[in-house]
Amino acid sequence: MIITLKKISLILFLVVFLSCKSQITAISTSKEIPSSIGDTTFVNLKDYSSDFVYDMKYATDDNFLKAKVYDCAECYLRLKTVRALVVANQEFIKKGYRIKLFDCYRPLDIQKKMWEIVPNPEYVADPAKGSIHNRGGAVDITLVNKRGRELDMGTKFDFFGIEASHAYENLSQKVKDNRMLLKSIMLENGFNSFDSEWWHYNLKSALMDVVSNEKWKCN
Ligand SMILES: [Zn+2]
Repeated sequence: MIITLKKISLILFLVVFLSCKSQITAISTSKEIPSSIGDTTFVNLKDYSSDFVYDMKYATDDNFLKAKVYDCAECYLRLKTVRALVVANQEFIKKGYRIKLFDCYRPLDIQKKMWEIVPNPEYVADPAKGSIHNRGGAVDITLVNKRGRELDMGTKFDFFGIEASHAYENLSQKVKDNRMLLKSIMLENGFNSFDSEWWHYNLKSALMDVVSNEKWKCN
């Protein structure tokens, strides 16, 4: 009788233990509960919004490196960057536009390759300090209209010249308006602009986050 009770206790213990374990596993793999993960966790933007347009230049050879340096076209950022970006995009959508992304989080090794080609801190951050891209807090973006056409911003993405600067005056009013539309809503949503590149925005609170060299999974 004593042995039987022990056996029943053991079975009950195993049932409770295994059911708890399966619940824990289910919660930790869910991406539907953002509050369960930390603000600085790296996440994939597409898991939080389907309202963005992607043209991830470094997953192709259409970039100044002339090389495909990402294995796949994913936009990883820290969760707090994703939150701010989703709100900014909602503002653009109300006005008939949406954000198109050229680059997001960038592993430090890629930063080193960029610095070898363009060792100029006006255009590429020195990998010794690390870019905000390496911290998961920067995005390179433009705006597209309802037909998916990019607004005229005066230069292409990654144009390394004075014409890409916010301070450059010799631009049409339309280009100035387009740049100002992008800049004003990004600044209202926690981002800083970068003087020499109209496409680059940093989340203000990302400066203190650590540089990373983690690669994301492609599948
Ligand atoms: Zn950038």
